[in-house]
Amino acid sequence: MEQRRPLIAGNWKMNGSLASNHVLLSEIQSGLSELSAAPCDIAVCVPFPYLAQAQSALQSTSIAWGAQDVSVHEGGAYTSEVSSSMLLDFACRYGIVGHSERRTYHSESDISVAQKTLRLIAAGITPIVCVGETLQERKGGLTEQTVARQLNAVLAQIDGASLDKIVVAYEPVWAIGTGITATPEMAQQVHAFLRAQLAQANSVLAEKVQILYGGSMKPDNAASLLAMKDIDGGLIGGAALKAGDFLGIVAAA
Ligand code: PEP
Repeated sequence: MEQRRPLIAGNWKMNGSLASNHVLLSEIQSGLSELSAAPCDIAVCVPFPYLAQAQSALQSTSIAWGAQDVSVHEGGAYTSEVSSSMLLDFACRYGIVGHSERRTYHSESDISVAQKTLRLIAAGITPIVCVGETLQERKGGLTEQTVARQLNAVLAQIDGASLDKIVVAYEPVWAIGTGITATPEMAQQVHAFLRAQLAQANSVLAEKVQILYGGSMKPDNAASLLAMKDIDGGLIGGAALKAGDFLGIVAAA
């Protein structure tokens, strides 16, 4: 059976400053040096203005960095947008696409999430494609239908042979920033469903895709979530802003 290396990725959202980032990144690095071997891949997805800082602080470490969004456009008259080639200038390894906060507050559609995914793949940056249902959708029994629609919009655009170039994050909207976490069994059920969807595009590569769980993952619930067969890491919001919590999750991976 395929052994997938876990990925623990921090999503800093719109938090931080040059000074506080310096402290956070230094604390994460020194905490990691105390772990005998990093048990997983580690990344931080920072606000655009701090990509240069992340690159300079992390380039000689095992911690990768990335962005939280990307433009669907290659370049031109798109005020405030940031292109995939700009992300590449800062050596981003990852880019989050389709986070529920983008879908909700910026009306991001399944199609634009798919276009963003394509842009990142073309630039050699790994997209972290977020999917997840609202509470209303879960209560209405629409969880699988929702995440299938979101994921399949992306799969329809990418070549099956590129499947291992994406990371998927299952983030139930009702669990993000709420302190309420999906139980490991609930999350595993959706992760297995997502892997089955991926397998329809390419059954061999579907086994290699890292499917992260996101939604109030903390050091005290990480181990039980990460123990599930199809949960290959975490996308971490609030707990990524405290070195001790982030490292606690890394240690559980
Ligand atoms: C997120 O924003 O991707 C997230 C999972 O946030 P939190 O961990 O705070 O729920």
